[in-house]
Amino acid sequence: MISSIIEFAERWYPNVEVVSRTTEGPIHRCTYKDMGQRARKLASSLSTLGIKNGDRVGTLAWNGYRHLELYYGVSGSGAVLHTINPRLFAEQMAYVIDHAGDEVIFTDLTFVPLLEGLQAKLKKVKHIVIMTDREHMPDTTLNNVHCYEELLDAGSSDYQWPELDENAPSSMCYTSGTTGNPKGVVYSHRSTIIHALASSAPNALGLSGLDSILLVVPQFHVNAWGVSYAAPMNGCKLVLPGPAMDGKSIHELLEQEQCTLSLAVPTIWMMLTGYLRESDKTLPHMKRVVIGGSAVPEAMIRSFEQDYDVQVIHAWGMTETSPLGTVNFLMPRVQALDYEAQMATKIKQGKTIFGIDLRIVDDQNHVLPHDGKAFGKLQTRGHWVTSGYYGEDSALDADGWFDTGDVATIDSDGYMMITDRTKDVIKSGGEWISSIELENAAVGHPEITEAAVIAIAHPKWDERPLLIAVRNGNVEKDELLIYMSDLVAKWQLPEDILFVDELPHGATGKLNKLKLREDYSEYQFPDA
Ligand code: ADP
Repeated sequence: MISSIIEFAERWYPNVEVVSRTTEGPIHRCTYKDMGQRARKLASSLSTLGIKNGDRVGTLAWNGYRHLELYYGVSGSGAVLHTINPRLFAEQMAYVIDHAGDEVIFTDLTFVPLLEGLQAKLKKVKHIVIMTDREHMPDTTLNNVHCYEELLDAGSSDYQWPELDENAPSSMCYTSGTTGNPKGVVYSHRSTIIHALASSAPNALGLSGLDSILLVVPQFHVNAWGVSYAAPMNGCKLVLPGPAMDGKSIHELLEQEQCTLSLAVPTIWMMLTGYLRESDKTLPHMKRVVIGGSAVPEAMIRSFEQDYDVQVIHAWGMTETSPLGTVNFLMPRVQALDYEAQMATKIKQGKTIFGIDLRIVDDQNHVLPHDGKAFGKLQTRGHWVTSGYYGEDSALDADGWFDTGDVATIDSDGYMMITDRTKDVIKSGGEWISSIELENAAVGHPEITEAAVIAIAHPKWDERPLLIAVRNGNVEKDELLIYMSDLVAKWQLPEDILFVDELPHGATGKLNKLKLREDYSEYQFPDA
């Protein structure tokens, strides 16, 4: 049961703190003891909103203590917590709320105007709870509105967590929907607990009661990579940054709360390291940083390790895999190499952990060797891999494998490396070119801030790569091509390079290549 995690933390780590930057402004501090009591009160109040076992309860919230209480109160009571990504387009948001069948939505103050705009479309939603106290309740046109703190006050801390079926659904999260509508992934008590146990282990995130964790990855994004569960399970202090994700605010919390570990996507770390450089600040308490969601540029690994003495843990996963699939830790054989030689392994997405299996296959579904060269479709199966999407048939093949949509290699030490997404790879003259490899090569240049590579039709080669980049200097196409020619094979070099002010991003902060492909659908190479 998910409730057993908060029960454990409440009893055995009662004085460990949960620190939150609130939407109202001030920093809020509480302990796992407070959190356990409040989660029970919340759970006991849900029935007054008509919530029963299996009903879906949506949240539209930043990372904060109330959101964490919902994680335990809702799932612990037997209802299903649906964390809604507020960065989805309005129409997609209305779609996921309706598709999940959310009956109640808990919202941060930030998203009240957004819900007001959507209200007419949300036919199944019966109540809205605003996650604040009476004093901060806004004037709103929303119907059936409740105040979170009043709801809690009416609850009972004598509430007993029910014993549920371990396979019962506990939470759900929709994929970002870069193609078509987002798809729902449902997690169970069992899959969540096993994932949290496995991700705590030393070969994975290596969590312990010594850690103070700044959880930047949003709680609306795959349960904040499962750390919403793994942190209390390990008695870790938890620091939740609320809406403030800029470099200065993140650094402030890392300093004040003496955080030893933090997790986020590369874009966030780009902002932090930019701030550190400008303001001449350091990271004296930080020991490890977990980076995933998209490939970690080599320059970022070097900067964390060499400039700030922080170890980078590169991880791969997806909403469908709870999300942890692989984690990059350095085996003794690699540690024995000099720093430069280690880099070839560090940029890989890492090794899988017990409880999950991986394989790569070619177009005919033949399993490919672990030689670090052969690349094919990456498939996975295991205790925390979804069997299908909510309301749809199974997504697994006859042997239980789930196709990730990624293309990867696996080397003889078992390190997996993503070379592309199936739909982003560039098929040039019968050979595949990895868009990610080209992007990494381009951002290695000090004047390139961000880069995207897409396939453009070519009369002779079928497809050739077009590089679209954001620069912070005067670097020109020819100079960048010369720079990149040291890093990739000549025939893989971009056919053309365009500089833009900004690249489009999707709801999870990743490059939106679908949009780029649309924007450049008419583009032709100069000599083609
Ligand atoms: P999440 O929601 O966890 O970001 P999504 O389901 O939105 O996951 O996207 C998962 C996809 O993100 C993966 O299939 C992969 O293409 C990409 N991804 C995740 N982590 C990495 C990584 N470390 N390196 C490269 N790509 C990654």
